[in-house]
Amino acid sequence: MQILVINAGSSSVKAAVIDPETGKRSLEMNAERLLDAPLIEFSDGTKIELESKGPERAIAVCLEALKDKLKDTPIAGVGHRVVHGGEDFDRAARIDEEVEAKIEALEKLAPLHNPINLRGIRAARELFADVSHFAVFDTAFHQSMPRRAKTYALPKDLMAEHGIRRYGFHGTSHKYVAAEAARYLGAQPKDLRIITCHLGNGCSVAAIEFGRSVETSMGMTPLEGLVMGTRSGDLDPGIIPYLHEQTGLPPEEIDELLNRQSGLKGLTGVGNDMRTILDESTKGNADCQLAVQVFTHRLRKYIGAYAAIMAGVDAIVFTGGIGENSPIIRHRASQRLSYLGAIINEDKNATTRLSETAPVVDFSMQHSRVKLLAVKTDEQLAIARECGKLIEKADAVNTLPTIPVAISARHIHLRRETVDALFGPGYELKVKKWLSQPGQFAAEETVTVVGPRNTIERVRVLGPVRSKDQLEISRTDEFFLGIDAPVRESGKVEDTPGCKLIGPAGEFLLEDGVICAWRHIHMTPEDAAVFGVQDRDIVEVAVGSGERSLVFGNVLIRVSPKYKLEMHIDTDEGNAAEINTGEEGVLQETSGSGTLRKRRVMEA
Ligand code: AMP
Repeated sequence: MQILVINAGSSSVKAAVIDPETGKRSLEMNAERLLDAPLIEFSDGTKIELESKGPERAIAVCLEALKDKLKDTPIAGVGHRVVHGGEDFDRAARIDEEVEAKIEALEKLAPLHNPINLRGIRAARELFADVSHFAVFDTAFHQSMPRRAKTYALPKDLMAEHGIRRYGFHGTSHKYVAAEAARYLGAQPKDLRIITCHLGNGCSVAAIEFGRSVETSMGMTPLEGLVMGTRSGDLDPGIIPYLHEQTGLPPEEIDELLNRQSGLKGLTGVGNDMRTILDESTKGNADCQLAVQVFTHRLRKYIGAYAAIMAGVDAIVFTGGIGENSPIIRHRASQRLSYLGAIINEDKNATTRLSETAPVVDFSMQHSRVKLLAVKTDEQLAIARECGKLIEKADAVNTLPTIPVAISARHIHLRRETVDALFGPGYELKVKKWLSQPGQFAAEETVTVVGPRNTIERVRVLGPVRSKDQLEISRTDEFFLGIDAPVRESGKVEDTPGCKLIGPAGEFLLEDGVICAWRHIHMTPEDAAVFGVQDRDIVEVAVGSGERSLVFGNVLIRVSPKYKLEMHIDTDEGNAAEINTGEEGVLQETSGSGTLRKRRVMEA
């Protein structure tokens, strides 16, 4: 399969024809100087200089030249990089009139990018009219960020009215390098906490917890976060009105100043190229020295912050022009991180050269618990893969069995020792009711849970006893009790908060074990084979029908021969979606590990 990938920018268009399976490129096109006279270069050595047809037509004329080159190449689909997908897109989308209209409506959030991306889409859809086109969004991967990470502290109605929230960018690259890093480490993203640093002309960091982006440094626009080539990154917002008062600059010029005249360029006056800045800093240029320090100081600040957010980190990944090629920046960012468990191998870092054959290099010491990796990013290949998946999926029909849904009320699993402490030594839990999961029962016994703010009485104990105490509560319970519990899969109670428990025979101080249970589906290995999923995959499930139908994203698969097919959501989720136990769900999508396994489907 050959996918044409197009990235249309304001002054350049890049395109490549890629086989998503092998990553092999049969043709690449790089067109520059779009605003003057476009100069097009192809990977076969051809160069074409065109007369200016004006900015409106510039992208189209380049794509016409490309089409001419592709006369004899069968293209299965066209993938377009689109910068802003807003609230609407948490994944790639097949482009139709409605998708085009949505991308157009998002122009207010990305006025510099989306209109140009759309120009590329429209020109390409006319020229390559007989194949499907797909939009792959820079923001999509970060849609999984929790609300606490997405939300600015501004008046809520104002934010809702204007779509103000953190979206994040470079998502295609962050997702790709995290997957590459995991592959290199012989693991899957769903088992790792990874900090990815995309350091190119634009720079951003992402915290990727078990395969999902939970934080990223760019915000509503790509201006927030790290110091970049020409963007300031984070600043005190008070500077903006101050600048306006002091200089009289109107908002659009302040915007231009922050986006195009700041960052490395603004700090140094020698331009935005990190190579020049590093060379000048070595020669003693004090401005360049300070720029390098500000750049890496900010980056280190984010690395520390993201390790704190994920309560640890397994790998820190450097990518983008700077991250892949600059040992000095990697050194400045990763030395003295031993407090996190990351120990740099300076020799390895200095000699690291990424290439097609060595796209990932580990430059940490062998005994470093956290791996430091330089990873070659490939956004074009990532886009081609997304398109390949969507083309395959279009040929499939969902004939999977439905999944019963159950609402899981707050409950607690206890260890033998904890039962002894709460109910008396040797006490045996009594079965009140057998649960749908074989061998599991709701016990006659209940405990009182005491949080810093409030107490909840009669929390049901589930049996039999387990190897770890685990209290599963809803978000509403959390706020009532005054406990901030992370969303976790059952059994993963490390680094979780505790609370006090009271039973008829005594009290017990739970050191950890309070979680907000990750919505999940229990199934047997046989079910898993039918659904085409594996243990700890993340899927989507549509529940209900008609107007009340609701898609639950981020549903965890749990496979064991002991389980019975059932999806568990908590009381908050059930209430919010007006769902009762007994409803049925339909598996929609498997996406957690980044690979769409083929489901058992029948031809239409
Ligand atoms: P990108 O946007 O990913 O193409 O990255 C562009 C940035 O990478 C520019 O600031 C370049 O100066 C920087 N870059 C490329 N090679 C090197 C290198 N060997 N050392 C430092 N920076 C580099």
